[in-house]
Amino acid sequence: MTTHSVAVVGAGLGGLTAALALIDRGFEVTVFEQSSELREVGAGVQLGPNAMRVYAALGLDRAIADLSFVPEAHVVRSGKTGATIATTQMKGVYETQYGIGYHTLLRADLQSLLASRLPAGVLRLGKKSKSVANGTAKATLHFEDGSSVESDVVVGADGIHSAIREHLLGKDSPRFTGTVAYRGVAKAEALPPGLLTGDVSVYIGPHASFVYYYIRRGELVNWVALAEETSWQQESWSSEADAADILRLYEGWCPIVAELVSKTDRCYKWALFDRDPLPRWVDGRIALLGDAAHPMMPYLAQGGCMAIEDGYVLANELAKDSDDPLRALRRYQAARLPRASRVQLMSRKVARVNQTPSLAARIARDLRLALQKMLHPEQHAYKIEWIYGFDVTR
Ligand SMILES: Cc1cc2nc3c(=O)[nH]c(=O)nc-3n(C[C@H](O)[C@H](O)[C@H](O)COP(=O)(O)OP(=O)(O)OC[C@H]3O[C@@H](n4cnc5c(N)ncnc54)[C@H](O)[C@@H]3O)c2cc1C
Repeated sequence: MTTHSVAVVGAGLGGLTAALALIDRGFEVTVFEQSSELREVGAGVQLGPNAMRVYAALGLDRAIADLSFVPEAHVVRSGKTGATIATTQMKGVYETQYGIGYHTLLRADLQSLLASRLPAGVLRLGKKSKSVANGTAKATLHFEDGSSVESDVVVGADGIHSAIREHLLGKDSPRFTGTVAYRGVAKAEALPPGLLTGDVSVYIGPHASFVYYYIRRGELVNWVALAEETSWQQESWSSEADAADILRLYEGWCPIVAELVSKTDRCYKWALFDRDPLPRWVDGRIALLGDAAHPMMPYLAQGGCMAIEDGYVLANELAKDSDDPLRALRRYQAARLPRASRVQLMSRKVARVNQTPSLAARIARDLRLALQKMLHPEQHAYKIEWIYGFDVTR
């Protein structure tokens, strides 16, 4: 039976991108979002060439370029001294190497852009899905307000605590990673001139790391402090953090950390959870994407990028096989699950390597990176050409 209608649950980066890709392929799409307003947090998001290619295919790359910052390089530095450990040039290189550059944005800017490109009536706010059921001809989505809708396909893009995932795989909790993310956005004009470089700067040290990069054309600076902590496990971007607590955790670190944290009006904290790769993302007419399918640690800055890739591939497979949505969804899973699972596991590994407390392991890591950069200066410090070079739009 031909696929016409797709219900997408969740208006995060994954759900909105999927909706745009599906609409581009001619599907009738409705996005159901539990919140009564779109409220992506005031934090940054990095978009690698693999995600930017999707937005280029959807005609959004120019609009993103107008809202974003293009960092010069990815630079791994010592948390203590700030000394450079490994630099990967991005600006001026990625455009040739990957056909498109690396962009950093305020999440809220990206979410507003994506939502603004949806035709009127597609986004339904204040609709919290409760459960979903497969039927022979349609899938039915039930909402907390007692209403329900039928569609040919239901896409669960409802994040790490996905209700749709629960339907597929039963109830269980994501894994607390033992790490808390503190974050903030500072105004560039509030910082001493020349303090920061125009890079994605990653400071690494025992049990913690600290990342900063410019966003919104260089008007703002986003920073994220990832620190191993087991005492606090709440997951909410709106939980405020005390700057003094962050400064205590990063005592003895390079002074840039204290400068950025103390020049930020509001700091927030968020406990990091992830999951082991799931055995399946699809059941009949129901499919998962983004964090609902593969929540990961943020050390490769790829959770959102994978969600963006998922949305594009899902739309493509449904369009290619619109007579058989079940087969199309199985092909979507076969195309996406191995890649996203590999990124999930590698994100954990980068966390371990970057934040190792062992002095011997730190020396070995830094020597390995120095040697790698000497032999292959163009290679990314994390050897992730297989992530950035993959083109889901081909
Ligand atoms: C500190 C940190 C830094 C990161 N940095 C990056 C980065 O630089 N680059 C990158 O690519 N990724 C990054 N990530 C990962 C990225 O944030 C996530 O992978 C991405 O936001 C997942 O998008 P999503 O659309 O799948 O889910 P979400 O963004 O979680 O969106 C889910 C949506 O579903 C809605 N929803 C939930 N339940 C229901 C329901 N029952 N009914 C209706 N709606 C519902 C929610 O309200 C929400 O709007 C980072 C993560 C962290 C924690």
